[in-house]
Amino acid sequence: MRTIFLCAINNVLSGSCPEDCKFCTQSARYRARIERYNFKDPETVLAEARRARSQGALGYCLVTAGRGLDDVKTEYIARTAQRLTEEIPDLRLIACNGTATVEQLRYLKVHGIQSYNHNLETSQRYYPQICTTHSWEERYATCEAVKSAGLSLCSGGIFGMGERPEDRLDLLESLAELHPDSVPLNFYLPNPALPIPERTIGHSEALEIVRTAARRMPRLSILMVAAGREALFSGREKELFDAGANAIVLGNYLTTEGEAPDRDRRRLEELGYTVAESCHAS
Ligand code: SF4
Repeated sequence: MRTIFLCAINNVLSGSCPEDCKFCTQSARYRARIERYNFKDPETVLAEARRARSQGALGYCLVTAGRGLDDVKTEYIARTAQRLTEEIPDLRLIACNGTATVEQLRYLKVHGIQSYNHNLETSQRYYPQICTTHSWEERYATCEAVKSAGLSLCSGGIFGMGERPEDRLDLLESLAELHPDSVPLNFYLPNPALPIPERTIGHSEALEIVRTAARRMPRLSILMVAAGREALFSGREKELFDAGANAIVLGNYLTTEGEAPDRDRRRLEELGYTVAESCHAS
């Protein structure tokens, strides 16, 4: 019986980012109609993490909007991680806070963060078309810093933002060079406020990306299908797992709703999968 990993996301600081990533509703430039707030109260994060764990999430990702870590964010994530580690020791904590130095990442590790998510997003060639305020190279350097800090690297990208097929392959190639432990594959979620008008990828191309990623990175611990799964694969999740994915996001994304967790759990059971209870499950 195959085991599927479930990861949940908590957007602990939302919106009002000065960067111009064209896929992101949290960029203040596009005035998307989303909820914007400063740091969530750690007790609220703890209650939400408890709920996610009870629903089957093994990974729990603390996400902040913005280009990267500063002292205030680093301290907030460290303190929140410490509290979650004390209260829910079987939750695997991931941080996703943008550009980071080795020292900041080491500090997070000491306080309970086990993995850091920083996506390359797209190919090096296409990246200037989707973001002009920071570079792909800066993103790559942060991924390398994650490894230097001794954290598990989670890095992936977004497909369907107008890139060409060769950009998709180049992104997977760059990810393979980084030897991440987990790779989240996202499929662009259009929003009327964003400059990218529509998702430029369909179901069969998306499935081929999952297959190619699994083939190119056979030693990955986690190949996750994240945003866009509901739009492209609702009711067809088995195809993703047959193609090599072994993880999905449980519940909502950063600013959009996902499937109901109960519905996903039921679906996995119907398909004969078990939900991972440890990161070493096969
Ligand atoms: S830096 Fe992060 S939060 Fe800011 S616009 Fe880009 S993806 Fe969104």
